[in-house]
Amino acid sequence: VPVSRIRNFSIIAHIDHGKSTLADRMLQVTGTVEERKMKEQFLDNLDLERERGITIKLQAARMNYTAKDGQHYVLNLIDTPGHVDFSYEVSRSLAACEGALLVVDASQGVEAQTLANVYLALENNLEIIPVLNKIDLPGAEPERVAEEIEEIVGLDCSGIIKASAKEGIGIDEILESIVHLVPPPQDTTNQPLRALIFDSYYDAYRGVVVYFRVMDGTVKKGDRVLLMASGKEYEIDELGVLSPHQIQVNELHAGEVGYFAAAIKTVEDARVGDTITLAQKPASEPLPGYKEAKPMVFCGLFPTDSDQYESLRDALNKLKLNDAALNFEPETSTAMGFGFRCGFLGLLHMEIVQERLEREYDLDLITTAPSVVYQVTTTDEEVLEIDNPSQLPPPQKRIKIEEPYVKVEILTPETYVGALMDLCQSRRGEFKDMRYFTQTRTALIYELPLAEIVTDFFDQLKSRTRGYASMEYHLIGYRENELVKLDIMVNGDGVDALAMIVHRDKAYNVGRALTEKLKELIPRHQFKVPIQAAIGAKIIASEHIPALRKDVLAKCYGGDITRKKKLLEKQAKGKKRMKSIGTVDVPQEAFMAVLRLN
Ligand code: GDP
Ligand code: MG
Repeated sequence: VPVSRIRNFSIIAHIDHGKSTLADRMLQVTGTVEERKMKEQFLDNLDLERERGITIKLQAARMNYTAKDGQHYVLNLIDTPGHVDFSYEVSRSLAACEGALLVVDASQGVEAQTLANVYLALENNLEIIPVLNKIDLPGAEPERVAEEIEEIVGLDCSGIIKASAKEGIGIDEILESIVHLVPPPQDTTNQPLRALIFDSYYDAYRGVVVYFRVMDGTVKKGDRVLLMASGKEYEIDELGVLSPHQIQVNELHAGEVGYFAAAIKTVEDARVGDTITLAQKPASEPLPGYKEAKPMVFCGLFPTDSDQYESLRDALNKLKLNDAALNFEPETSTAMGFGFRCGFLGLLHMEIVQERLEREYDLDLITTAPSVVYQVTTTDEEVLEIDNPSQLPPPQKRIKIEEPYVKVEILTPETYVGALMDLCQSRRGEFKDMRYFTQTRTALIYELPLAEIVTDFFDQLKSRTRGYASMEYHLIGYRENELVKLDIMVNGDGVDALAMIVHRDKAYNVGRALTEKLKELIPRHQFKVPIQAAIGAKIIASEHIPALRKDVLAKCYGGDITRKKKLLEKQAKGKKRMKSIGTVDVPQEAFMAVLRLN
């Protein structure tokens, strides 16, 4: 088709507002995927994603659509992940489009993620088409929500589309709007090739499969291409379009969306945001907006059984082939033995990797509490990036510590404003702004240390507002604070994996709460186990776990000893993942205790 009849768009929405359901419905209505072949939520195809109901990996689909004007159009839907951890990938997907459907649940209204996505779409100059979804629900309030969109997002909603992705209502209207409102791509086929990578995945047979949008020029099968950021060259073995199954073609022009394979060994070599050009006739400049995914949250991963160390390394290497943002290096802990220090984009990314390691690779892991990256200026005028609290240089060796800050935007019903301000204040937040839109939507803007967000901030936000508030955040830079290292000793030994960096003003409270929590979590032993928190040489909190009494043991081992022992062992294995630290068995929960202090 001519470029004037191509439309590239994505769907942006707050989680659960119906993005995937709508995408599926469009594939079905346009006959792209036959109904009987249609699995529910075709676009979310990683098991984990489906279980959690979130889209992590982007996907794309090409639909053929005959509009009411009788013309045949090609509609390329580029899906975006639905979580703040992946907002860079969202921004690159949007950069590959000319328009976006803004889907808002008509029974819920505008949420923080709705807004954050709109900002990203506006930054990329997209035509935004608002859609009210779930109008079939008895609780739908299309008028109220349309007003909310006008008020908060600032879009004209007089002709807003009322849809139900579930019931198939309004889908034709949506398709027609895409044809008429989303501008066609510019015809820059004569210019040197520039194509934007918006996704990639590793395939064991073909190497990395790269998803891209041709912005300028033409790309052909057999072309030798240069990836401008990585500087690497490859020959394209396979070129095609996504319908959404891969169908091979010989060439793709400006405005088109497709995939290629070129025996690329790891997704790190074909990163999202990189520009593809021809090796022989390269473009003079890459497309704007490329960034290297930088891990923001780190934790230690240690096998419970040291025999699994090599398997853990293999598994991380395999995951890395498909996840350019995953970062790891060997770590040796005096308490935990050999493991890896791993970096992630955010907490969700961290959870996903941990879960995959355990489920897909059958590893038993102990995970240490997440840490952010601190910038430490030493007395030698060196700036160190410290992602592991145990590695913080001692006070006499450092001049200052800076920590990452984020700007948080919360949307909440007015009644919870007080509770949320308390929460932000208690997390060292700085109030920036408050905007009242409607009774159900007040925006609160705070700047907070990222370290205070990676603990249980989100859970607190939800519980203090009965689930009614939503939030988004993004990094704004580093700031100096009075930070100290809190050491934890179990049975007299310092446990490096439990060390943390806290603000001086909070150190006493955190130390006390943490020793109390550890006392609860670490089981009793046959001897008394002291637990202490210290700053430098100064003990600031101390507890002890009393020894098991004799009669408890006697009871355990009365009767059929072997049977009971086996039973106990089995129980212990299934229930508690333990790491022996000296002579003390410490369960997994203890390493995460800091996330559950009140
Ligand atoms: P996403 O997180 O934005 O991708 O949302 P999903 O498409 O996964 O939808 C979230 C939930 O809302 C699912 O349980 C869907 O079945 C449901 N849903 C989606 N669209 C509609 C709709 O139009 N009406 C109703 N009643 N439910 C819907
Ligand atoms: Mg989804």
